[in-house]
Amino acid sequence: MTTDILSTLRNIIQDVNDASGLEQALNITVKRIKQVMQVDAVSVYFRDNTLQQLILMATDGLNQNAIGKIRFNLDQGLIGLVLKQAEPINIEDAHEHPDYHFVTETDEISFHGFLGVPIIQHRQVLGILVVRQTRRRRFSANDETYLVTLAAQLAGAISHAKKMGELTSLLKNIDGQSFHLSGISGSSGVAIGEAHVVYPPASLSAVPDKQIAPAEVDEQIREFTNALSSVEKEFKDLSQRMAGVLSKEDIALFDVFALMLRSDTLTEAVIARIKAGQWAQGALRETITEHVKKFTDMEDAYFRERAVDIKDLGLRILMHLQKSQREIKQVKGPVIMVAEEITVSHFAEVPLEYLMAVISSKGSASSHVSILANALGLPSVVGVDDLPVSRIQGQQLIVDGYQGQVYVKPSAALLEEFYRLMDADKIHNSELSELVDKPSETLDGVHIALHVNTGLLEDISPSLKSGAEGVGLYRTEIPFLIRDGFPGEDEQAKTYRQILKSFSPRPVTFRTLDIGGDKALPYFPIEEENPFLGWRGIRIMLDHPELFLTQIRAILKSNVYQNNLRLMLPMVSDVAEVDEAVALIRRAHQELNDEGLSLPFPVLGLMIEVPSAVYQMRALAKRVDFFSIGSNDLTQYLLAVDRNNKQVAALYNSMHPAVLHAIREVVNSAHLYNKPVSVCGEMAGDPASALALVGMGVDSLSMSAGSVLKVKMAIRLFTKADTEALLKEALAMENVADIRLLFDRALEQVGASSLIKKKSQ
Ligand code: PEP
Ligand code: MG
Repeated sequence: MTTDILSTLRNIIQDVNDASGLEQALNITVKRIKQVMQVDAVSVYFRDNTLQQLILMATDGLNQNAIGKIRFNLDQGLIGLVLKQAEPINIEDAHEHPDYHFVTETDEISFHGFLGVPIIQHRQVLGILVVRQTRRRRFSANDETYLVTLAAQLAGAISHAKKMGELTSLLKNIDGQSFHLSGISGSSGVAIGEAHVVYPPASLSAVPDKQIAPAEVDEQIREFTNALSSVEKEFKDLSQRMAGVLSKEDIALFDVFALMLRSDTLTEAVIARIKAGQWAQGALRETITEHVKKFTDMEDAYFRERAVDIKDLGLRILMHLQKSQREIKQVKGPVIMVAEEITVSHFAEVPLEYLMAVISSKGSASSHVSILANALGLPSVVGVDDLPVSRIQGQQLIVDGYQGQVYVKPSAALLEEFYRLMDADKIHNSELSELVDKPSETLDGVHIALHVNTGLLEDISPSLKSGAEGVGLYRTEIPFLIRDGFPGEDEQAKTYRQILKSFSPRPVTFRTLDIGGDKALPYFPIEEENPFLGWRGIRIMLDHPELFLTQIRAILKSNVYQNNLRLMLPMVSDVAEVDEAVALIRRAHQELNDEGLSLPFPVLGLMIEVPSAVYQMRALAKRVDFFSIGSNDLTQYLLAVDRNNKQVAALYNSMHPAVLHAIREVVNSAHLYNKPVSVCGEMAGDPASALALVGMGVDSLSMSAGSVLKVKMAIRLFTKADTEALLKEALAMENVADIRLLFDRALEQVGASSLIKKKSQ
């Protein structure tokens, strides 16, 4: 490539990266390519997976009215061929090619020279970039390289737009037809309801559009001007507080901010948008985005810098608006919570009686959001790539948690189908409910205790109703996650006491605070490159003995009447951690006894969820009374697959041969040293993998309340020897699909197909 072409390439790439959105990026690309390559037409086609079509998305040289209208089937024409072959196709005269397909709207009759390259990301063809020449033209190798380089750039822009939901809005007319979105099944079940978008505080891009009635305009304007005054006051306070700390020039920045705040262009533009029917937050988002873009486009570096200030200003105003516009009370009917990323604290925003399901663009089946949704008996679909968060508020949705699908604005026929499925689910659940008082034992009478995983007070009643024999995992971090600050000792003790009392005399296993990873406390931020390999669980607690001691004291104190308490430490990777933790527990115990409370030393257990613990069972068994296998983390660490990363979600599987072998090793070692062992990861709640665990000889299984009866049903259909024989066969297998099939078939053969986990697409 000549230096000239190289430098234009660099410029285009820069412009594509700076573009305010995908539409702009596409328009820049087609225009610039046309100039540089001196071709007669440049066009970009996107692949729409729902409609299974290639759609013209941008062009320079073809009829502009054809954008969005020209649609090819995936195997149609020369661009269909580029898609199929996933490599460039360079033809001197397209008319002579057998795959040539004439389309009137594009006036293609006049084009002969054709070069099409696929836009590829993660092995998938997202679209096609095509240049055309009126005359016959054989494009050079350099032309091909040039176009391939730009297609790679576009791939980045498209996949970013996908994440932001922009692609869905471009491809689909959201206000019109119905469409569906694919994700990963987070928890099973079906729900129908209205989309209720929740967003992280102060995230402009996630603010949804919302139309307001004329009567609401004044109120919205008032809220906006109040927010402005609050920010102004904030700046004044800040500049006073910082007077002795910052230089005069830096302090002057606050004045610049205050000036911007009072600038008519900003406030008037927001107010005009409110008057046109947009709510204050949406009007602010649009205005700030517009201003930021204006400044970013400026040549002068100083002004480009100001774009950052405007964004910051926008966020501050938004924060105040959100304080006054929280919608907690406005939810009055069944809703489906929608967000880019759902955090545990979002569950506190919607009254649980109205919450029907959860969908998010981030996350995977083993993320804590999915686990929590499952615990609450809510269907969830996560990892929905192209979720149009900002445009979906209030739309009717069907959430199919079995298949990982979401249907937006479903047709009457589809609704009817899903209502039928919901009825069938109800019947299945009522059949299961007959098992509540039946024992959890195999056909030959071997008892396997079934416990629940919980963490929310709302969960107590379903847990008790499930007939569970105790709590195998109480995730103490959950109450911490839905608050604004660390709860004190007495407040914690009150919650723990309530749990112990509700389940008494059944045992309750409290796991000490397991924050870090994907569970960050809003008031205890942790910034790390690799949070799952970082400061997590027991590591944080040992570095913060004051937090650990407070929690241990609260847990021990709560046991004052019931004596059904068990204590468990998460994320242990080293024996020294256990010794240190035990020393602190002894200290807390001693302190409480010195204070006059005569409390027993708790039954103590460890979670086996880090591979290093699998190989230290002998040393660990000397130190504690029981083990519980955290298969969610053990799977992620053994397979090197981030449990939260949807990109690698297909590789995450707790029935992987390596995971099964590791768990068997732990169960055998625990029994060798006479310690009971349970499994409290999600695999314990899946009937098929639960059978494998029974075959291994685990003493108990702990799972979401909603899974207890399904697992009980499975256990009651097999003898212990059956499960051992299945396990033996599974352990000899080399890949996960065969193992899954083996157990699914076994369930099918005993007439329990309803217990087979449906595969998400
Ligand atoms: C696990 O890792 O299996 C587990 C039960 O803990 P959590 O899912 O809360 O990390
Ligand atoms: Mg874990």
